[in-house]
Amino acid sequence: MPSASQRYRSTRSRESQSKPFEYAVIRGLAEDGGLFVPSQIPHVPSDFIKQWANLSFQELAFKVMRLYVSREEIPDTDLAELISKSYSKFRSPEITPLVKIDSQQNLYLLELFHGPTYAFKDVALQFLGNLFEYFLLKKNSKKAAGVTHDRITVVGATSGDTGSAAIYGLRNKKDVSVFILYPTGRVSPLQEQQMTTVQDANIHTLSVKGTFDDCQSLVKQVFNDVKFNDKYHVGAVNSINWARILAQITYYYHGYFQLLRQVPEAQKSGLKVKFVVPSGNFGDILAGYYAKQMGLPVEQLVVATNENDILNRFLRTGTYDKAPVKVTYSPAMDICVSSNFERFLWYMVRDTVASKDDREAGSIMNQFMNELSSKGAFRVAEETLRLAQSFLLSGSVSNDETVRTIRSTYQNTSNHYILDPHSAVGISVAERIIAEDGEDTAINYISLSTAHPAKFSEVVNKALGDITGYSFEKDVLPHDLKKLATLPKKIKEIDIPELKVIEAAIEEELVTE
Ligand SMILES: *Cc1c(COP(=O)(O)O)cnc(C)c1O
Repeated sequence: MPSASQRYRSTRSRESQSKPFEYAVIRGLAEDGGLFVPSQIPHVPSDFIKQWANLSFQELAFKVMRLYVSREEIPDTDLAELISKSYSKFRSPEITPLVKIDSQQNLYLLELFHGPTYAFKDVALQFLGNLFEYFLLKKNSKKAAGVTHDRITVVGATSGDTGSAAIYGLRNKKDVSVFILYPTGRVSPLQEQQMTTVQDANIHTLSVKGTFDDCQSLVKQVFNDVKFNDKYHVGAVNSINWARILAQITYYYHGYFQLLRQVPEAQKSGLKVKFVVPSGNFGDILAGYYAKQMGLPVEQLVVATNENDILNRFLRTGTYDKAPVKVTYSPAMDICVSSNFERFLWYMVRDTVASKDDREAGSIMNQFMNELSSKGAFRVAEETLRLAQSFLLSGSVSNDETVRTIRSTYQNTSNHYILDPHSAVGISVAERIIAEDGEDTAINYISLSTAHPAKFSEVVNKALGDITGYSFEKDVLPHDLKKLATLPKKIKEIDIPELKVIEAAIEEELVTE
């Protein structure tokens, strides 16, 4: 029998029913518009530090995921194989290596960008792609010959970075077709090359004459077209999918155990650690919340935002209010609301004003989300805010500070470490927290590094361009990204950003697969 932590409920539901893991993964969003959460967070074994300390990333992933997915749904051997396949294309044997930033005492970077597209999103999307294929294969293998297969048509919009991670996660997957819309001329050349040089038959990139907002609105319209949806089973891989959060919990454990191996013997007992997370949609740091609640001894989680600081403002005031999106140097964090924050808030509400009642929590969340869409803001009770503050610290970083941090980190580290602008937002906030904590050398800081600097050349060159000896080509750009410029591209141009045009293009392409 699946345990409560292996069944999922919606953050907006007033009922007690729950769904299996597969349902949550394939649907993505609950029917009532809420997000799926395990209503009970599982616990690691009480001696997990002893038991798990020397496991590989893949072995840790298995231990963590097993707690959230029942054996009835995915047997042990299948789960192990899914995990092994998902992390076979990473360039680091550690998958997510922990490296010390030697300009600061006790400050480490957890490098999450060693996947196929040099983005942190690979950690989750490689797994999600395999999971989609696994569930489809299971369904389709039961069908008699000649009966049409279940399929998924993934449709998504990207402003640059997420698109390639989704494409590399889903390329060549059976019964999955992928359409990624991006605004013509508004993604960087490298990002466009990454997306459009993938030649697998199931991958389609649509270059849309319009803005990123046009692309996003088109994707929404496709999802809302019931007839089209029924026919093509349109699916999403955006950051609200529970499987993405699940896959990310692993690296908090892996980061902690790597730290244990790296710190001096004297510091090992009673090791204290704070994680600093460059945040946008709150998926990355939410995985840290789960890791902590499962039993990982984390002192604190720190939300680092750019000038789009809705989370930082909420944690100071208790009011969650939308502001227009600002364009910053860390574009993957340019959001006006953080979609995964709803999951965290559900637990905060449930454990305070809802008296631990799941349904009552759903009811309150429903009110909040209605207020957010009608008035653009909602306010939580004082005790809910206090509970949230007990888990999260926060800080917001300007563009100038981002550039200064890339520069100072390069100058103050013995190996001239080069940060990308997102990771620099994390390091800026980490340095502030270290200063506030004073001389407490027992605390270690792990700042998450979410992208490779090669992907954000403009900002990196702005920070380092005038330093003698620095060269982007030589110091930053990896060989396989350099190579992309020479590969043939597969692009479908969309001249008019209209639903009918997009749907016709999708149908036309599907025939050619
Ligand atoms: C997506 C992304 C983030 C933000 O992660 P969330 O889970 O949305 O908070 C940060 N940095 C990079 C490079 C990203 O691609």
